[in-house]
Amino acid sequence: MLSFEPTEEQKLMRDSVGDFARATLGAHAREHEAMRGVPDAVRRAAFELGLGTMDLPEDAGGQGLGLVTTVLLEEELGRADAAAAFALAGPGAFGTAVAELAPPLERAALLAPFASGFSVGKIEDKMGLRASETAELVLDDCRVPEDNLLGGADAHAGKEGFMTAMKTFDTTRPLVGAMACGIGRAAYEHARDFVRERYLLSRPIPRYAALAERLARVGRRLEAARALVHHAVYLADLEQPNAKEASMAKAYAGQAAVYACTEAIDICGAHGTLAGSDQLLEKWFRDIKVFDIFEGTGNIQRVVIAKRIVSGLKAF
Ligand SMILES: Cc1cc2nc3c(=O)[nH]c(=O)nc-3n(C[C@H](O)[C@H](O)[C@H](O)COP(=O)(O)OP(=O)(O)OC[C@H]3O[C@@H](n4cnc5c(N)ncnc54)[C@H](O)[C@@H]3O)c2cc1C
Repeated sequence: MLSFEPTEEQKLMRDSVGDFARATLGAHAREHEAMRGVPDAVRRAAFELGLGTMDLPEDAGGQGLGLVTTVLLEEELGRADAAAAFALAGPGAFGTAVAELAPPLERAALLAPFASGFSVGKIEDKMGLRASETAELVLDDCRVPEDNLLGGADAHAGKEGFMTAMKTFDTTRPLVGAMACGIGRAAYEHARDFVRERYLLSRPIPRYAALAERLARVGRRLEAARALVHHAVYLADLEQPNAKEASMAKAYAGQAAVYACTEAIDICGAHGTLAGSDQLLEKWFRDIKVFDIFEGTGNIQRVVIAKRIVSGLKAF
């Protein structure tokens, strides 16, 4: 039976991760943005809670929670502060002890024994997600010993290496979609509360109705996005093919959340553009755009979907 209702255990985990994320990440979002990172104490607290290793198998040092549970938690992280969540690990599958505990420049040194000719280049300044660092990776005559190839040498023979790399997207795209849903939800809830407080009692009725209608459209798109994300990971947990569904989830959630943030600012008017510690709409607006770009742009997702639907060919 297909059920979208989380179990009691999943609800408990979702709520405790949500509480942690709001108190530790969301409440300090401006500070983390200003320092372009998160303090080590926060990194360690998140690691102790198991964030970032949630969907890794237990024999690989993870918690083996499965992707359905992981997307519930990713949405809570995105709802609190996606930028800081990325600084902790990046969505799910990227979470390793190295990524959790080491700042980017130290990661290169930690990875050195596994490959030669690999270094970290310039750390970029960027529009959003500023609490997490994005750096160029420099491969200069890079050599990876056969024993260190992920999945073993067979997984990289012929075109298999590329296919293996592409397959990781079947997992990571819904995770990115879940985090986008979280940011979109944050903006939507902010705008909803603003409309309630500002117009519910002293309602200029036509305006209240118009704004409520716009909120309804945002809410509808976010719920549809969440359903696509959950379907994609439901298939992945059953080890069924899900490339088309993963791309649908990523493409739709990225755009739905960009729409949510844009509409939320517009609904709140000038208030939506203010930058205070509890006025984060303008930050979410900056953070969300890249969710329609990285992990494959919306256009690329549509190429993948079209190949699967129209020609029946394997995408890529
Ligand atoms: C903050 C951030 C973090 C990132 N992190 C990582 C990371 O951890 N690892 C990693 O590998 N990469 C990462 N990236 C890179 C990211 O995945 C790419 O930027 C993204 O996939 C888009 O590629 P591109 O920038 O080369 O754009 P392009 O591919 O040059 O796209 C430019 C435009 O052309 C369109 N386009 C391209 N091809 C087609 C097509 N066939 N049909 C129709 N339209 C098309 C695109 O949709 C887009 O509108 C990151 C990027 C950012 C901004």
